[in-house]
Amino acid sequence: MGADGGAGALLTIDLDAIAENYRRLRARLTRAVCGAAIKADAYGLGAVRVGPALARAGCRDFFVAHLDEGVALRPRLPDATIHVLNGVLPGEEGEFAAHSLIPVLNSLPQLDRWSKWGRERGVRPAALHIDTGMSRLGLEEPDVAVLADDPSRLDGIDLRLTVSHLACAEEPENPMNLVQRAAFERARARLPRAGASLANSSGIFLGPDYQFDLARPGAALYGVNPTPGQPNPMLPVVRLEGRIIQVRDIDHPRTVGYGAAHSIRRRSKIATVAIGYADGYLRSLSGRGLCRLAGLEVPIVGRVSMDLITIDVTDVPANQAIEGAVVEAIGGQHTVDDVAETAGTNGYEILTSLGPRYRRRYTGAGA
Ligand SMILES: *Cc1c(COP(=O)(O)O)cnc(C)c1O
Repeated sequence: MGADGGAGALLTIDLDAIAENYRRLRARLTRAVCGAAIKADAYGLGAVRVGPALARAGCRDFFVAHLDEGVALRPRLPDATIHVLNGVLPGEEGEFAAHSLIPVLNSLPQLDRWSKWGRERGVRPAALHIDTGMSRLGLEEPDVAVLADDPSRLDGIDLRLTVSHLACAEEPENPMNLVQRAAFERARARLPRAGASLANSSGIFLGPDYQFDLARPGAALYGVNPTPGQPNPMLPVVRLEGRIIQVRDIDHPRTVGYGAAHSIRRRSKIATVAIGYADGYLRSLSGRGLCRLAGLEVPIVGRVSMDLITIDVTDVPANQAIEGAVVEAIGGQHTVDDVAETAGTNGYEILTSLGPRYRRRYTGAGA
């Protein structure tokens, strides 16, 4: 951490690791093209930096959730195909057209509106979401039948892609995968020819049958393990560090933090670090999380508070557990997945929680 370390914590994002993860995922695809999900600000890592890094690695097809995310990215990705997963809401049609964004149409009424817009003002591209089991977004089987019986409803639309989303891709043995793939094939057989996209990160690892024409990985690009229970084939991408701002020696029967949740049992050295839940370091890590200092594992004691955590540094050499020393909260030995498991959540939530309050440093080519 540099001399400019006035802010609480430092989040380091390795753009080279993201590019390498993209190449590793692409190498898993037999014939599909590899796209990238960069919704939610590239899972909290900064889409305006991550998007261009992926484009330099060869990515041309991007997926965001909201119209606004697509609009913000368009100037950074002038030549890319940008899909908006949440589709086009009434009144948004003009903005989609102005920024050359491709809506992923999620319902027949939405399709009808986009078709009308296209018939009146010129044919527009779209993707079509088929619900094969998520029950969240997309056309269900009866909707597909309606469309198959009246293909004119697609007039004014250049249907580029059919999309569906797997509910259980990280569980290769889950029968839901086969069920969804079969439903996707059935729907596609009834619709006009278009590219197909089913696989998220874990879906890629289900093999060629799930890869179709375009993969849409997100989490794996950012270092989350797409094959839980097996070694992570991805490189770690983020490191979160905070600085010790005070150290104290205390003994039994003192307690630490809110709720007096941690009782001191032996003579201890407790360090206070400037990272808290307002930074996205989840409160559920209270009394459970682990950090690293001077190459040693140090436990979080007591509750995570808004701006601070307290760690037990009793076993750390006294000259290392000092004010200003840098503590690693995520990275290296404590991957995003490790922290997620400790917190009782998944790596996605850890990443997207990492708040805008951190000072961010991008490393790697183009940083
Ligand atoms: C978020 C998302 C993805 C990416 O999923 P990962 O599990 O992060 O790889 C792909 N497709 C859709 C529809 C999504 O919502």
